[in-house]
Formats: sequence, structure tokens, C-alpha cells
Amino acid sequence: MNTAPRRILLKLSGEALMGDLDSGIDPTILKRVATEILEVRALGVQVALVIGGGNLFRGATLAAAGMDRVRGDQMGMLATVMNALAMQDQLEQLGGSCRVLPALAIAQVGEAYSAHQARRYLEQGEVVICAAGTGNPFFTTDTAASLRAVELQADLLLKATKVDGIYTADPKKHPTAVRYEQLSFDEAIAKQLGVMDLTAMVMCRDNQLPLRVFDMFAAGALHAIVRGEPVGTLVEV
Ligand code: UDP
Repeated sequence: MNTAPRRILLKLSGEALMGDLDSGIDPTILKRVATEILEVRALGVQVALVIGGGNLFRGATLAAAGMDRVRGDQMGMLATVMNALAMQDQLEQLGGSCRVLPALAIAQVGEAYSAHQARRYLEQGEVVICAAGTGNPFFTTDTAASLRAVELQADLLLKATKVDGIYTADPKKHPTAVRYEQLSFDEAIAKQLGVMDLTAMVMCRDNQLPLRVFDMFAAGALHAIVRGEPVGTLVEV
């Protein structure tokens, strides 16, 4: 799908917000990403966000260190809420309007996620951050992103990475690796290209939701995508 999307769901990993820090959030990166989001909002594109939590906590890592997995995942989901609040704050400081809708009950922090309410806010021009992943342990924010994108009837799921698309092999280890401009979900799954976890990929495939993988840190990339330009790699059914 190379036409300009009307509603996008952008997945940012927690690590993307970390920049060169060892953990936490780099305020310069936060501001840069928020600015780009508001630029595409200003074009009339509706923007929903799912932000990861890997810059703070990951359940699997905590479990490997001896913690109960469910509790570890709850910490991971709460980490995504902290990132969401940081992004909300930054968007508002830049003059944007943003709702954080967590999938876990934390009423004082944000209204509980509901797909219909989220769609209403998007139609009213607010940026909607779907926080706390799916609300369930043993899932990832990639899966949350694909689920929310389908629920919110997004035209396109955007996965921001540090690489400018999907390659035949890891371009850092294999200099001869070639970037795909387009491929199918079945191909990405069969070749184990590591785009997103399997649950997320199957969710996109089964709901005919196109996915574009791109480098968020390439200046103007998001803007180009919403104008319908073929940036990064497109994965379709
Ligand atoms: N998480 C979870 N359920 C979800 C989404 C996330 O339990 O639906 C937890 C899980 O522990 C995960 C952490 O939240 O490791 C942070 O999410 P993720 O690892 O996907 O963040 P990212 O790698 O994108 O920064």
C-alpha cells in the first residue's frame, strides 16, 4: 500500500527512546520523535502510538534473574506506561493534544483503553497512546501494536527501528545483505526475518493489515511515509 494513509499506528520500542543512554529516556530523542508525530498530525493523519518498555524493564529479563514472570511482565507493562507519560508530556509541551489509554487499570494516570473511545479521540485529532501493551503477560508490545492497529482500523502499522527496513540478513553482520522493498507476511515468517514476533506478524497477516518497517531516525521518514512514499520495507499479505 503506497497510498497516503488516513490513520496510522506507530510502534516505537523503548530502546528507540533511549538513544545512546544505557537506560531511560533521552529528552532530545523524545522531542524529535514528538515533533515528527505532530508534523504528520498537522497533515491531517490520525496517529495512534504503542511504545515499548525495553529501555526500563522486560519481563523475560526479570524472570531470567529469578522473578516470577507474570510480575516481571507487569513491571514491563508499567514501564510502557512511564514511556507513554513522557511522550504525552512532550507532545503537549509542543502544543499537541494526547490521550494515554492504558490496558491496565491505573485510573489516575489514564482512562482505561477502549477501542471505540480511542477511535473517537483519534477522530477528534488527538494523538492516542495505547499503553501497558495488551494488558496481559507473555505478550510483547509488537503484538500489542498489531492488535491495537487492527482494533483501531488503522490503514497502516509502522514499526520504527534503527535500520531502514528489512534485509535478507542482518546488515551489520553481513555487508552484502540486501534490503527488501516489499515482501509478504508468509515470506517474512518463513524466512524468520525477525521483523516482529510471530504473534504480531500473524495478527497483521490474518487481518490484512499492511506493515511498514522504517528508520525513525532518518530525517523526514515518517513525513514521507504519510505522503505515500515507499520508505523502508512494506510487508503485505
Ligand atoms: N509486556 C507484557 N505484555 C504486553 C506487552 C508488554 O507483558 O502485552 C511486557 C513484557 O515484559 C515486555 C515489556 O512489557 O518485555 C516491555 O515491552 P517490549 O519488550 O515489547 O518493549 P520494547 O522491546 O518494544 O521496548
